[in-house]
Amino acid sequence: MKNKINILGLLVILAGFFLAPVTVDADVNSDFNINQNYALGAYQGDSRQAYRNYIILHESGNQNDVNDTNAVLHEVQFMHNNYSNAYATYFVGGGGQVYQVGQPGYVAWGALSANPYSPVQIELARTADRNTFNADYHTYVNLARYWANYYGIPLTLDGYGNGIKSHLWVTNNYGGDHQDPYGYLASWGITKQRLAEDLLHGFYSTPTATVIRDAVTIKDGPTTGIAGWNSKGKIIPGSNTKLRNDTAWKTSYLTTVNGLPMYRIATDEYIPKKYTSEANLVTINAISGVNAVDSTGKQISDSRKTFTDQSKWKTNDRPHWINGKLYLQVATNQYIDTYYTIGGGNR
Ligand SMILES: [Zn+2]
Repeated sequence: MKNKINILGLLVILAGFFLAPVTVDADVNSDFNINQNYALGAYQGDSRQAYRNYIILHESGNQNDVNDTNAVLHEVQFMHNNYSNAYATYFVGGGGQVYQVGQPGYVAWGALSANPYSPVQIELARTADRNTFNADYHTYVNLARYWANYYGIPLTLDGYGNGIKSHLWVTNNYGGDHQDPYGYLASWGITKQRLAEDLLHGFYSTPTATVIRDAVTIKDGPTTGIAGWNSKGKIIPGSNTKLRNDTAWKTSYLTTVNGLPMYRIATDEYIPKKYTSEANLVTINAISGVNAVDSTGKQISDSRKTFTDQSKWKTNDRPHWINGKLYLQVATNQYIDTYYTIGGGNR
């Protein structure tokens, strides 16, 4: 009897060993229409289950991709044939196509000594076509979000502890010399901040509830309230009694008083941006997005696809007057007209 149980147990173990690697959630394959024609076989690649610490993001770094409409297929074929050098779990490209190479949940070979800590590593093929990129980027982000949620990995990008990590972060924390994927993403106007935001919230989470476009809320002021200022830069006595934290104020525009950005909340009353919900933020307030301009006021074409309505951007809140309009800086040589920001006047 005892022997029989042992043999049965052994058979179970052997069956587990010889079957194809453990199937993960089948939904992902249909949800993302994942092509598995080039997935590694059961005896190929790393057989170790990965710790569920990181989702690692890459891009191919191969500029030849951009002249190849089948770049993702060719990348995947190459990766499949050379997996002993390097492979990722997935390759995204060609307008949102996804190919599986490694087995999700298992160690892939894309990020040196961080490999054991990542159950899913995602590669991205390059393209020169805007629509292809947009589709690729959406899929890349959604796939990363899917697996992060699946494994209980935080949706934060390049932060402390577990989370979604760029290969650059891996290099900075585990060594190596790769810096992807930021350079390529930046070539399409996707900043690290934008990627972080999209990973955190996805693309369809913008609340459909009415967006209040002409008000800001007082935040981080002293408990005794903040001072209102007049246009001459003088404190309005007693104004602090009403200007308390968490109170919302209708604004007509942003201007500068005493050289600092302030919202106009009454005929001759202004409150400092740094004590509002918009402190160090540019929240785009333009239904079809807004083009950023450079320091000379020249529009950066197509950047409205990046600066979409309600998207939030970090700024140092240093005022830039360009051609008579007040701008805030959101990237190197990229400025947003404050009229097209929350509280800035656009309705
Ligand atoms: Zn990489």
